[in-house]
Amino acid sequence: MNSSFGRDTPHPLRLLVNQVPAMLAYWDRDLRCRFANRAYEHWFGVNPDAMVGMSIRDLLGEKLFALNEPFIRAALDGREQIFERLVPGPDGTRRHSLATYVPDVVDGEVMGFIAHVADVTRLKETETALRLEIAQREQVNALLRASESSLREAQRLGRVGSWEWEIEPDITMWSDELYHLFGLDRTRSPPSYAEHAALYTAESWSELQVAVAHTLRSAEPYTLELRYVGANGVAGWLEVHGEAVKGAGGQVVKLRGTVHEVTLRHRAEEARIRIRAAESANRYKTLLMSRASHELRTPLNAILGFAQLFQLAPDLAPKYRAWADLIADNGRHLLELVEKLIDLSAAQSGRPMTPPTDIDLVKLLRTTVALADESAHSASLTLVGPGDDAAPILMHADPAQLQPIVDNLQSNAIKYTPAGGKVTVSAADLHDRVEIAVEDTGIGLSAEQIDRIGSPFDRLGAEWTTLPGSGLGLALTKTLVGLLGGTLRVESVEGAGSIFRCVVPKRCG
Ligand code: ADP
Repeated sequence: MNSSFGRDTPHPLRLLVNQVPAMLAYWDRDLRCRFANRAYEHWFGVNPDAMVGMSIRDLLGEKLFALNEPFIRAALDGREQIFERLVPGPDGTRRHSLATYVPDVVDGEVMGFIAHVADVTRLKETETALRLEIAQREQVNALLRASESSLREAQRLGRVGSWEWEIEPDITMWSDELYHLFGLDRTRSPPSYAEHAALYTAESWSELQVAVAHTLRSAEPYTLELRYVGANGVAGWLEVHGEAVKGAGGQVVKLRGTVHEVTLRHRAEEARIRIRAAESANRYKTLLMSRASHELRTPLNAILGFAQLFQLAPDLAPKYRAWADLIADNGRHLLELVEKLIDLSAAQSGRPMTPPTDIDLVKLLRTTVALADESAHSASLTLVGPGDDAAPILMHADPAQLQPIVDNLQSNAIKYTPAGGKVTVSAADLHDRVEIAVEDTGIGLSAEQIDRIGSPFDRLGAEWTTLPGSGLGLALTKTLVGLLGGTLRVESVEGAGSIFRCVVPKRCG
């Protein structure tokens, strides 16, 4: 049988073939070896010369032969085969091999095949290492993508955008949230530094320019609160922060920073400033009111005293006596007003009046009701206080703060309830708080009047009646309830009556 490869291979070629680290062999169609190079010795531990005539099954052993047989048959069918296989060596090592079976075809007939088996263990190891590296890189990329998306999410939630500005060439980079804050399309490139002018009010833009110029010169960071006007017309306040990045030569090559939407914070701060200003104006007004009322009281007492002396004069002409009565009446009214003003300014100053003591609220209400019994009677009203069987309600408070509250609510109820009506003063124990309720069947108040309650000198329309008053009683009541840490609520039906409910903590002060 003729073949293109055999024992008679010329010497130099055989030498060359023996130098090849891969196994090279020729197997005839009976699967007997016709030639094998030196590498077989290394791979299988057999002498290549002794292999000639050996069957491939004997060389490979049953197991490996069974694995390779399909490829052998295919090669003998005239089809070239390439496959990978783990080949166990005589030393127990397992080599990764890449086998190629090339059919030897002579005159259209397959005479056998050339087997070329290369050791690709190194390649395999490199491939495995590469695969591992790729997998690790993919993992790192996935982590990067995840952290980028959480950064984007954090920026969105915190309404913070970030930016970088490469000065030369003029390249600006914006985070997604920055586009969102300024209402700009994020598929466009960010505006250049000069184009930023359109995003701020003129005043804020010039403030920013000064800060940026300073940072470029000094590399010192800046933080400013600026008013912006977004492309979508939304305006507000931003806290912008910028810092310099220096190049190798020490010069500033880049600025980067953050932009934080702080409109709500800014408004709250403005409101705080307004409240502080109003509070200080209020304090000044209270002080003025307190000084003025104290100053008025002394000469008023003198006027009242002399008017009373005139009234006592036995030989005073009736005309002058009437004048003296007028001076005394108006003087008393004025003194009452001044005293109420003094009480109100003292309460508004927030200073404690007397030390808190233990009080039985039910007893306090009973006494207050008893003292007003006569005036209620003369106004033809029924005045009802806590019954004799009412259990005591103990609390700890400043009586100088608590008593005027009850007095004012009760005297108002009597004053603004027409004859034949009823006024009920009661208390309720609400565990850690108490409720004082003064109910009447009087003229009542509209919702708009209830809203205005507590504003000094506002008599809510009573100024057009003959009922006396100054419009200071409820202002004082409301201030005192506030000082005790409580609330005053009014329920009323015009023409039917009102309930004033005052709820205060049991332990005040
Ligand atoms: P005044 O000295 O005018 O009574 P207040 O400050 O005590 O001042 O009360 C303010 C206004 O509230 C009163 O002028 C009156 O119009 C209204 N008011 C107070 N209490 C009652 C009430 N129980 N029923 C109806 N109106 C009331």
